[in-house]
Amino acid sequence: MPTVVIAGGGLAGLVAARNLADEGFDVHLFERREEFGGRVATLERDGFVLDRGFQVLLTDYPAARRELDYDALDLRRFPPGVVLASQDGRSTLADPLRNLGALPSALFTRAVTTRDKLLALSLRRELARTPDDELLVDDGKTVREGLEDYGFSERFVERVAAPLYGGITLDRSLSTSVGVFRYTFDKFSTGHAAVPADGMGAIPAQLAERARDAGATLHRRTAVTDVTPEGSADGESTAREQPLWQRQTVVESGGDPSAIQATGDGGVTVELAGETVTADAAVVATDPPTAKELTGVESIPTESQGCVTQYYSLPAEPDLPVDGRLVVNAGGTEPNHVVAHSQVAPGHAPVGRSLVSATFLGTPEDPESALAEKTRKALSSWFPEMAFDDMEPIHTERVPFAQFAQPPGFRERLPDPRAPEGPVVLAGDYTRWSSIQGAIESGRQAAWAVESHLG
Ligand SMILES: Cc1cc2nc3c(=O)[nH]c(=O)nc-3n(C[C@H](O)[C@H](O)[C@H](O)COP(=O)(O)OP(=O)(O)OC[C@H]3O[C@@H](n4cnc5c(N)ncnc54)[C@H](O)[C@@H]3O)c2cc1C
Repeated sequence: MPTVVIAGGGLAGLVAARNLADEGFDVHLFERREEFGGRVATLERDGFVLDRGFQVLLTDYPAARRELDYDALDLRRFPPGVVLASQDGRSTLADPLRNLGALPSALFTRAVTTRDKLLALSLRRELARTPDDELLVDDGKTVREGLEDYGFSERFVERVAAPLYGGITLDRSLSTSVGVFRYTFDKFSTGHAAVPADGMGAIPAQLAERARDAGATLHRRTAVTDVTPEGSADGESTAREQPLWQRQTVVESGGDPSAIQATGDGGVTVELAGETVTADAAVVATDPPTAKELTGVESIPTESQGCVTQYYSLPAEPDLPVDGRLVVNAGGTEPNHVVAHSQVAPGHAPVGRSLVSATFLGTPEDPESALAEKTRKALSSWFPEMAFDDMEPIHTERVPFAQFAQPPGFRERLPDPRAPEGPVVLAGDYTRWSSIQGAIESGRQAAWAVESHLG
């Protein structure tokens, strides 16, 4: 069967590997890091389970439902609704349609006007009737403009939407495409936000296992440095200077790369750190900037939204009185949101401790101690009945490229998976939209593009 090389073992690359191996292709995936998963990864430290920045799986993502075994992931769901926190106090904005017990608090919370609540319910019904592909349509509008058009009050936009959707899009100015708001608002309404019991890294771990079971060979710690289609117009290599650490750490863990070979003509030459192989087709499933360098496709977006998530260990008792709900900063910007992880996934903290994180949007360069001080100050004003002297920062995750920037109209400018033409195909969130759904779906689309190219 034809040989396919995949560069990058994030969600997109792993899904492409599995789908192609399922069809009988001889699939070899190369991931430059020690672990698979890319932007979805988990670190374990002293009994704490720490994700690469706070993120959640929305259980109603159709591509995730198709590719993942939710039962095996042992998903822990966040309760619907959020806690709006400011120096003036806290209020819970629960979801009355899912939790009848929350109805009184949802109706009577003064943080949101009745008109805004009714608008949210009617928007929810409207989006539920809209096909998924149309949800992402933005008519050139930002989240802020879309919310204004729907009729939401300025107070709702500033105090609820800005911290909540700022947290989701990593852009508190709400200048992201309203399509991303529409899609995620709908999926929050119809499904749940959840994390696997073992942390988000369980998602790529499961995808890697499924790809291997389908017959794909997965290699770690091996960077792809060049992808050149045979007979490409100028025959020029796009090879990049390899960082020294990549040249020193080529450890191949899933088969012998030197045995990888194209079965026919018109394929592609792939440079690995220290090895050249040929294949009948290649899927470039790296992060967007690397994909642009490897393929030269100009429309690959490289502007990023970043964030910093800092994790803290606190005594298990007393715990934050939030019942596992996301806490959003309705009165300031630092941090943007706080999560009581171990209330949702008790296994994410060792016995006797609780795990809390605070996420700061952008790429603040403050030292760890300064970020911790900001969090301590915010928590002390939001929860004046509690003391935070024992709050101990345990890890700071800085992710400068968490999502690519998605301004209005971004989808029309994204590259088609077949943009490089010939035997090279693109996979990655940057071919659809920046999310777990976008990345997983792109893997399947890339597999189809390879299949159709190879006939
Ligand atoms: C902090 C944070 C919060 C987020 N929140 C959410 C959320 O709540 N919900 C949601 O749906 N999405 C969220 N996202 C977005 C989501 O995680 C990403 O859209 C998705 O994981 C992208 O997957 P990918 O496979 O396209 O790319 P990546 O994850 O970037 O994978 C690319 C892979 O290629 C590898 N690679 C790069 N160069 C090479 C090379 N030369 N050779 C070999 N391998 C290479 C990389 O190491 C990486 O493993 C969040 C992301 C972050 C970081």
